[in-house]
Amino acid sequence: MREIKRVLVTGGAGFIGSFLCERLLKEGHEVLCVDNFFTGSRRNVAHLLENSNFELMRHDVTFPLFVEVDEIYNLACPASPIHYQHDPVQTTKTSVHGAINMLGLAKRLGAKIFQASTSEVYGDPNVHPQPEDYWGHVNPIGSRACYDEGKRCAETLFFDYYRQHALRIKVARIFNTYGPNMHPNDGRVVSNFIVQALKGENITIYGDGQQTRSFCYVDDLVEGFVRLMGTDDAVTGPINLGNPGEFTMLELAEKVIQLTGSSSKLEHKDLPADDPKQRQPDITRARNILGWEPTIQLEDGLKPTIKYFDNLLKSNVRV
Ligand code: NAD
Ligand code: UDP
Ligand code: UDP
Repeated sequence: MREIKRVLVTGGAGFIGSFLCERLLKEGHEVLCVDNFFTGSRRNVAHLLENSNFELMRHDVTFPLFVEVDEIYNLACPASPIHYQHDPVQTTKTSVHGAINMLGLAKRLGAKIFQASTSEVYGDPNVHPQPEDYWGHVNPIGSRACYDEGKRCAETLFFDYYRQHALRIKVARIFNTYGPNMHPNDGRVVSNFIVQALKGENITIYGDGQQTRSFCYVDDLVEGFVRLMGTDDAVTGPINLGNPGEFTMLELAEKVIQLTGSSSKLEHKDLPADDPKQRQPDITRARNILGWEPTIQLEDGLKPTIKYFDNLLKSNVRV
């Protein structure tokens, strides 16, 4: 029989966090979801509120948190460029002070702690695909730096708490992930293209659209989280979690148009600063250590995501 645990999920009312909370509850665990609702919303976890094993708490992780739990998943941080550049100082504080507070909490409790790191630690990579031992190519003073360097510093803190305080850490480097519960106005490419296609608006391709990304469906990602958390203490990561299937933004636009049956046309816009040209995870470690690899093809993941946005647009809820 599986052991029932008390699990803290910071950023639990966000896109990925909401799926993680649901998954942990399904496994019978008690879940404490902590969020300041900057980019997440109660709507994402509304269906979990009636579960007596679920508790939702408004709290900003840049402030200390005193609770009693067995495991911590630290996801709190705005993830889309529009949101994390809205208040860049707060973004760095969330990553760095948030990590310090959650690590301090884990240290006091002797709890295992997971960090949602990111492929952005590789920056605009000049090694392709990116293995975990690649140190990255990040502009430390650019407009993406608050996020990239914040997440890099958080990794540093995790590994220093591991070495200095023997904390049990699990660091995942997440590559672009998509699915229902993404914020419709977060400016990320999947949500933008789907919303534009459903509204019959032009699809905005930044630059020539030849830049690539690898898109992982959220269910696959959450499976990777849970497997990583379940590994023995010798496994710390960092470990890449993402889908190695690589697509240009033009290919993604074509797929979205085809699946929505939209008559939207493509419109080219300027490429944002420091926009990585290509990104694809090397998931050899995840395959070997976790026995994990994504199982959901892009088209199969886009369908429920399109359905989610279609319902959202029809329901006229304020987001
Ligand atoms: P999201 O914006 O939907 O979720 C982040 C959540 O954190 C939101 O609910 C937000 O309100 C909350 N939050 C932000 N600042 C906070 C603070 N100071 N205190 C408490 N809560 C705070 O984004 P997501 O896509 O679900 O990302 C979750 C995590 O995964 C993030 O740490 C992100 O960096 C990481 N990640 C995501 C992706 C992706 O493609 N979605 C890729 C790499 C890494
Ligand atoms: N912290 C917290 N909850 C706890 C324990 C610690 O939020 O249950 C915070 C604490 O406020 C501190 C941070 O975590 O700022 C780091 O704690 P640690 O014990 O590592 O360092 P110290 O308190 O010695 O600075
Ligand atoms: N992008 C685009 N049109 C949009 C939004 C994004 O062409 O409407 C591009 C963006 O320039 C980048 C890619 O899509 O090259 C992925 O962008 P996103 O913001 O989703 O993620 P990230 O750049 O953080 O990987």
